[in-house]
Amino acid sequence: MEITAKYQQTKAGGRAGCLLCPHKCQLDDGQSGICRVRINMDGELISIAYANPCSISVDPMEKKPLYHFLPGTDILSLAIEGCNLRCLNCQNWTISQNIPDREERYTLMPEEVIEEAIRIKSKSIAFTYSEPTVYFEYMLDTFRIARSTGIHTVMVSNGFIEREPLLELCNWLDAANIDLKCFDDALCKKLTGGSMKPVLKSLGVLRDRGIWLEIANLIIPGWSDDLQTIKRMCEWLFDNGFSSTPIHFSRFFPNYKLADTASTPEKTMYEAKNMALKCGLKYVYLGNIHTPDSGNTSCPVCGTCLIRRDGYIVRSDIGSNGICPSCNEKIPGVWK
Ligand code: SF4
Repeated sequence: MEITAKYQQTKAGGRAGCLLCPHKCQLDDGQSGICRVRINMDGELISIAYANPCSISVDPMEKKPLYHFLPGTDILSLAIEGCNLRCLNCQNWTISQNIPDREERYTLMPEEVIEEAIRIKSKSIAFTYSEPTVYFEYMLDTFRIARSTGIHTVMVSNGFIEREPLLELCNWLDAANIDLKCFDDALCKKLTGGSMKPVLKSLGVLRDRGIWLEIANLIIPGWSDDLQTIKRMCEWLFDNGFSSTPIHFSRFFPNYKLADTASTPEKTMYEAKNMALKCGLKYVYLGNIHTPDSGNTSCPVCGTCLIRRDGYIVRSDIGSNGICPSCNEKIPGVWK
């Protein structure tokens, strides 16, 4: 479905500018943006990603990954094709690097997404898998209705969005997982096609607006596995008020344009975790790796294990108030 895009600027000579993400595409008539979602049609910017999801499923919350947000619950998860980055390692490239289907696949209006969540008794909905900020209008309209019904709203994003639209989204957003892809800006541009600086700004906006936030960082050999760079990232997070923000280091497996790159050695994963803890980050998790405690949530004060995770099987001993029963430390998160 096509709708008028928000955050656009009409220009002389039928050009249209998009102000949604830091690419700030300037488009001639008929041209689409880097995301393939927003198109200049007769001098007006149109989004072709509205109410035409290519993927709908029910996931465990831990798959987002969100570990301090309603752990052990299910979340209705949707995506439309499109992304404003070009990550060489993208595991969902078949949808992220595709054009939203303009043929009528089926239509799922925002109110119907919420009806479906209610029908399946899902307490939350997520836009995920591709890059949801590029189908901003659909996400925003769906989240508005979700809020009025008490359903929680989640975005899994690369955080590559301008401040103003992100602020608007924050009015209706409960939680986000932001993928901080690489803390070396030159490498980040080569790996993803975008700078990391706007992503750091987005983290600050989400922090300041009180959105529940967790951070993902994929450790790719030769790209994002340098321990000194990981140290700088963790120090930046600590210095900028993210010491209690859960960080998920994820193990890379060969994929897409990095099919010839080796998997991340397990040793590197543990080194990253130890470095993050040493830098003062309190909640550090390892993903895509099966070890007995890499996904457990422990109290950072007394060490009591509060949530045990074995894959997506979750056993929680944390109360709805998030208080550690052993030492009364308040564990940040949304627990009920
Ligand atoms: S959202 Fe799409 S069209 Fe808009 S600036 Fe970003 S890549 Fe370009």
